[in-house]
Amino acid sequence: MQTFTREQAGYREEIAGFQTGITSAPQLVVAATSADDVAAAVRLAAERDLPVSVQATGHGLRAPAEGVLISTRRMTGVTIDPDRAVARVEAGTTWGSVITAAAEHGLAPLSGSAPGVGVVGYTLGGGFGLLGRHFGPASDRVRSAEIVRPDGTRATGPIDAGIVTALEFDLVPVTTLYGGGLYFDTAKIPDVLRTWRDWTADLPDTVGTSVAMVPYPDLPMVPEPLRGKHIAHIRVAYLGTDGDELVAPLRALGPLQDTLTTMPFTDSGQIAAEPPHPHSYLGDNRVLPTLRDDVLTIVLDHAGPDAPIPPVLIIDLLGGAYQHSSTPDFTADSRYTVRALSLIEPDAATVRAAHAKLFAPLDPMSTGRLRSFVYGQPLG
Ligand SMILES: Cc1cc2nc3c(=O)[nH]c(=O)nc-3n(C[C@H](O)[C@H](O)[C@H](O)COP(=O)(O)OP(=O)(O)OC[C@H]3O[C@@H](n4cnc5c(N)ncnc54)[C@H](O)[C@@H]3O)c2cc1C
Repeated sequence: MQTFTREQAGYREEIAGFQTGITSAPQLVVAATSADDVAAAVRLAAERDLPVSVQATGHGLRAPAEGVLISTRRMTGVTIDPDRAVARVEAGTTWGSVITAAAEHGLAPLSGSAPGVGVVGYTLGGGFGLLGRHFGPASDRVRSAEIVRPDGTRATGPIDAGIVTALEFDLVPVTTLYGGGLYFDTAKIPDVLRTWRDWTADLPDTVGTSVAMVPYPDLPMVPEPLRGKHIAHIRVAYLGTDGDELVAPLRALGPLQDTLTTMPFTDSGQIAAEPPHPHSYLGDNRVLPTLRDDVLTIVLDHAGPDAPIPPVLIIDLLGGAYQHSSTPDFTADSRYTVRALSLIEPDAATVRAAHAKLFAPLDPMSTGRLRSFVYGQPLG
């Protein structure tokens, strides 16, 4: 079992993850390669009376790691059982490798927007996926979890009863989807929000969609029509063959850029077009039963192009199978999310204050939050 103390070469590299806004300095890092390593690390922490933290990719960090940090990034085994349509993954596996392995058998996982996200952390948070309105959240499809309990013994049990070392879950028979994005210029943002809201009123559950307001930086890596502009970005993932008909009311608004097409599920990570590079970010969200006009006004005032500190603002359509989920994040009233995501600039206090201005007027009508989309800060 390889370990790193603060003084040892490799310690910083082992802790580094996607979220760069949280600095951890645990006493010891255990670079686990097996469930036995995880169990040994838990026992070691108990002997030394130290807390235990776990990290796979570092996408979901909410607090600095303390005590003994178990790094699962080397535990990346994936096995597909095509006859049962089930995947078994080790604790450090990312969605990208499950998507690739499952596709060889005409199957797909209930993954989300970013292939670099870890399967276990995502599923522990509920798992809001591209196809979730049809198939439900990932957490509803867990078959079994191998865990290490707080006393260091290994067991099979509920996913949240210890540190997960392996997870078995259902796959779905999906090979292609109609998906991508429509990008609209700044002046069209209010119209795009309203049209998207009206369009989502009676969509079949085979459509997953969100709309984002994104302040794109003026950098060469950003495609020319979007560079330096505040853009409205509609994202679509549809399990149907009449996609062009479905999105006709949205296309009629005249996008600057249109990436909607029929694609293999292995390309589904391109739909949301999220930055793949590590950075520092704070994020929070609210779940709402409706998206009334006053909600759109609040969102535009506090998170639109003229807001003092505009975040990336994302509104997701929930409903469908989420309304019948056994996961506590989703209820019968879960219809939309409003999410804010900001770089930690100029500092965390300023960003938190800007997010608070957005969410305070939404709180009286909100039914809760999705744990998955709380970033860089405690759940509170
Ligand atoms: C760019 C981006 C896109 C995202 N897209 C989606 C999306 O589409 N849908 C969605 O639902 N979520 C999404 N998320 C949220 C993501 O699911 C959570 O942040 C999740 O916690 C990330 O898990 P991780 O293992 O990658 O991250 P990590 O930071 O490594 O882990 C996050 C937390 O999970 C827990 N954990 C990790 N491994 C274990 C384990 N083996 N045993 C016990 N606990 C463990 C720990 O508490 C850890 O702090 C996204 C996040 C980002 C940054």
